[in-house]
Amino acid sequence: MIFCIPHSFSLFLNCIDKKTQQQAHNLTFIFMEKTLVIFKPCTLRRGLVGEITHRFERKGLQLCGMKMIQLDENILNIHYAHLSHLPFFQRIKNAMMVSPVIVSCWKGKEAVHVVRELTGTTNGRHAATGTIRGDYSMSMQENIVHTSDSVENAEIEIARFFKNDEIFEFETIDMDVFYANDEI
Ligand code: ADP
Repeated sequence: MIFCIPHSFSLFLNCIDKKTQQQAHNLTFIFMEKTLVIFKPCTLRRGLVGEITHRFERKGLQLCGMKMIQLDENILNIHYAHLSHLPFFQRIKNAMMVSPVIVSCWKGKEAVHVVRELTGTTNGRHAATGTIRGDYSMSMQENIVHTSDSVENAEIEIARFFKNDEIFEFETIDMDVFYANDEI
């Protein structure tokens, strides 16, 4: 479940001392938005996992879950249900089963939006330079990563691929190097 921290709580944080403020900010960080990223088979086969992970980390997102799994037809029928009308639906699913994938969960303020922006549009040939797909993909299908497209779907997709105890909450370096006080 994703919690929202009311703005009044942020205002309250401004009235307490710096150390307590930092601890409280670290606490609010625990409840920040989470999103799902799947490193597709093309990414594993091209040896790009480290480079793509680096992009998310360097942006300031926190990795809070990661594992290698083999997708199967059943889970892809659910995960890509919105594409089932396409004549090449089977081909899209096959491409996701060619090798294992890496599923990962990332956290940060507006993480869903931030990760989608970093990802770029679906077709790698048209995705903006500087985005992951724009920089690493020449294809509509072999486009490096799947990333959740809404907060609601992120919650559903994280639950689809991770058990509760596979998502980790841990303290990172002080959040004030990433955010202003009133942003967290
Ligand atoms: P996105 O991954 O950008 O959210 P979609 O949810 O529409 O895009 O599609 C899921 C995935 O299915 C895409 O990332 C891509 O790998 C594949 N796909 C979608 N549409 C096509 C298409 N017209 N041709 C080939 N592959 C496609």
